[in-house]
Amino acid sequence: MKDSILVINCGSSSLKFAVLANSGQEVLVEGIADRLGSEQSSITFKHQGKKTETLLANGSHKNAVSTIKQWLSTQPSIEEALVGIGHRVVHGGETFSKSALINQDVLNGIKECAKFAPLHNPAHVKGIEIAFELFPGLPQVAVFDTAFHQTLAAEHYLYPIPMHFYREHHFRKYGFHGTSYRYISQRLAEVAKGSEQQGVLVAHLGNGASTCAIRHGLASDTSMGITPLEGLMMGTRSGSLDPSLLSFIAQAEHITMDDALDILNKKSGMLGVSEISNDCRTLEEAMNSGDQRAKLALDMFASRTAKHLASVATSLDSVDHLVFTGGIGENSSYLRQEICRQLKVLNIRLDLTRNNNAPRGDTSTISPEGDLPKVWIIPTNEELMIALDTISLIQH
Ligand code: ADP
Repeated sequence: MKDSILVINCGSSSLKFAVLANSGQEVLVEGIADRLGSEQSSITFKHQGKKTETLLANGSHKNAVSTIKQWLSTQPSIEEALVGIGHRVVHGGETFSKSALINQDVLNGIKECAKFAPLHNPAHVKGIEIAFELFPGLPQVAVFDTAFHQTLAAEHYLYPIPMHFYREHHFRKYGFHGTSYRYISQRLAEVAKGSEQQGVLVAHLGNGASTCAIRHGLASDTSMGITPLEGLMMGTRSGSLDPSLLSFIAQAEHITMDDALDILNKKSGMLGVSEISNDCRTLEEAMNSGDQRAKLALDMFASRTAKHLASVATSLDSVDHLVFTGGIGENSSYLRQEICRQLKVLNIRLDLTRNNNAPRGDTSTISPEGDLPKVWIIPTNEELMIALDTISLIQH
C-alpha cells in the first residue's frame, strides 16, 4: 500500500525531515538541514544506517527542500510511495484544536498565530509554501504543538490579568509539546489498559521541558504558557519566575525589555545557573567529576520539575501513572530519581535498580512491582503522530 509521508519540521535556521512508511512504523530516511541562512549550511541524510552530509551551496530553506526532492528522485521506490507531507507547527492558537489539511484558510490561520511564535510560525509557513511549490501534487497537513491542550478548562488556561487582554488579544496559556503528549497518552493506553480512564502525569524533558496532566485521555493542565518560557527550568530558559525580574534585569543591564526577555529565553536555565552548558549530559559528566555548579543546575532542574508535576496534578482526580519522556526524561536516571524523590507526597516511588538499568529506547516501568502510581519511561515519537494525522486527513 502507498502510504509514505514526508514529515517536515521547519525552523528558522534548521529543517528536520523524515520519510515514514507502513503507517508511520518504518523510517525510510531522515535528516536535518542545519545553519540555514549562513554560509556553512549543510544537509545530512541518514538512510539504511549510513549518514551522508553535503554542503548546501545556497543555504536557503528552498535549497534544502529541493535537495531533499533531488535525493528522493534517486530513490524511486521511496519517492513513488509518497502520498502526503506532514508539517510540525508550533503555535495553533485557539484556531486549531486538531491537525488540519492545509488550504489557504489554514495557511492564513498559521500566519495569524505568528504573533505568539514569531520565530517559529513564519518558518513553518515558509516550509509549507516551498513544499507546495516543489511537491505540487501532494496534499499537506499541519500538526500543532498547542492543539492537544485546547481541552484545558478556563480556570487553567486563563491568566489572572484584566479579562479584556483575553477577549481582545487571546492572551492565555496555550501549552506546547502537545503532539508528544498525545503520542504518550495513546502509547500508554496500549501498554497500560484502562489508562485512558485514569489520571496521568507526563514530564517531557528535553532542551525544552514541560509537564502535562492528562485526565481520561484529555489534557487537563500543562506547565508552558502563551509561549514555551513558562513552567520548568530548561536548557536555556528560566521557566516561571517573578515577572518583576524582567524590568530589574533590563534596568541593571541598561537593555530593553525584549533584550531582557532574550536573556530569560536563551541564557538562563541550566546554562545560566551552571555557567557551563545547557546540555544535561555535559552537566552530568561535570557533576560526576565534582563540579558543584553543574550539580546545582541539575538539582534546581529536578526540584522545579517535581513542583510543576505536583502543580498540574491538582487538575486530576487521581495520579495513576507518571511518564518520563524526551531526551532527558528517557536517559537521565539521576534526574528521574531526584524528581521522584521529591514527589513522595503523590506516593510516587521508584525501583532504583529498574531506574538505573532501564533499556535505552524502550518503554519500561521503573516503579516497584505492583506499586501505584506506576512510573514509566516511554520514548516519544512526534514524527509518527504527524505521519498518522497526515494519512488520516488525506484519506477523508
Ligand atoms: P529537544 O528535542 O528539546 O531539542 P531532546 O529531547 O533531544 O531535546 O533532549 C536533549 C537533552 O537530552 C539534552 O540536554 C541532552 O543532554 C539530554 N540527553 C540525551 N541523552 C542523555 C543521556 N544519556 N543522559 C543524560 N541526558 C541526556
